[in-house]
Amino acid sequence: MPKRVFNFSAGPAVMPLPVLEEAQRDLVALPGVGSSVMELSHRGKPYMAIHADAKARLVSLLNIPDTHDVLFLQGGSRLQFSMIPINLLKDTGKTADYIVTGSWGKKALEESVKEGTTNVAWDGKASNYNNLPKPSELKLTSDAAYVHITSNETIQGVQFPTEPDVGNVPLVADLSSDFLSRPIDVSKYGIIYACAQKNAGPAGVTVVIIRKDLMAHASSELPGYLVYRNHAEADSMWNTPPTFGIYLLGLVCKWLQEDIGGLEKIQAQNEAKAKLLYDVIDESNGFYIGHAVPEVRSKMNVTFKLGDDEKDKAFLAQANEADLTQLGGHRSVGGVRASIYNAMPVEGVEKLRDFMLKFMK
Ligand SMILES: *Cc1c(COP(=O)(O)O)cnc(C)c1O
Repeated sequence: MPKRVFNFSAGPAVMPLPVLEEAQRDLVALPGVGSSVMELSHRGKPYMAIHADAKARLVSLLNIPDTHDVLFLQGGSRLQFSMIPINLLKDTGKTADYIVTGSWGKKALEESVKEGTTNVAWDGKASNYNNLPKPSELKLTSDAAYVHITSNETIQGVQFPTEPDVGNVPLVADLSSDFLSRPIDVSKYGIIYACAQKNAGPAGVTVVIIRKDLMAHASSELPGYLVYRNHAEADSMWNTPPTFGIYLLGLVCKWLQEDIGGLEKIQAQNEAKAKLLYDVIDESNGFYIGHAVPEVRSKMNVTFKLGDDEKDKAFLAQANEADLTQLGGHRSVGGVRASIYNAMPVEGVEKLRDFMLKFMK
């Protein structure tokens, strides 16, 4: 096998090696079936079992209550930026509140204004999205259609430690880059959505966990794919689902359950990994400058700069030579971003920490 590097890409991102190995082993012929998962009809028994297994594993890992449905969709999180207001806001006469804590929240807002009335309940732009709102700063609408948050802002590296209190209004959360990285109380959410390619699988499948009562409003006149109800009624087989992506997502869930031991365990690993890097930043006397304020720093995307572009460039080039790859910050922020999702082994983070110490010297 060709050598594998430590890949710090923000997404599509590193996958657990045991998942890749199992998929490779069974790629050409799934045992007992004799065809690749890619070659199976989504209506046939073997694929239906894979589909049901992936869903059951998600329900078990996240303790998803009966009040919520799990959908496997396509179109990425960006399609959810539109589907959410189309299903929950359009023609309700209500307002949707957006708490904008970074680039993705801003993009979600931009799509929602096309569908209905929105209110920016908070926007962190003034401090270049390095912080989160204090509860007293939120300008929430009473009886809003929903409140939207981005649980982890992948580009700026700020993460909600816990969900904000939004009263009885449905909380809608983009969990794209911290899905399955820690336990969450699903009953507190109206909708949770996550494209898979950060922390849960390959690009091509997007998970939507939605409270069942929120699916009633959407008009049947809308394009069929955009109506959550259609997908829920058809168990995510309204059209051909992204079968191979769902299969891999199921393997990632199995890895989390059987190899890692559940979401409390992966959370502890993620916190320990993030601490390795933040400690270097904090003890570097300003050599490394973290983007997010310490209380809200992301456990998934560690963002920092070295103070000038030349130093950033030298850091990235030398890191790449040491097989620490895809560390460049997003073009809108610059600097360095180490994405250390579930599947990044602690050895990779230790190697990056050692590299940071050596580079500083
Ligand atoms: C990557 C990402 C998206 C966009 O996902 P696509 O699958 O490219 O549509 C949205 N929100 C967050 C927080 C992300 O990290």
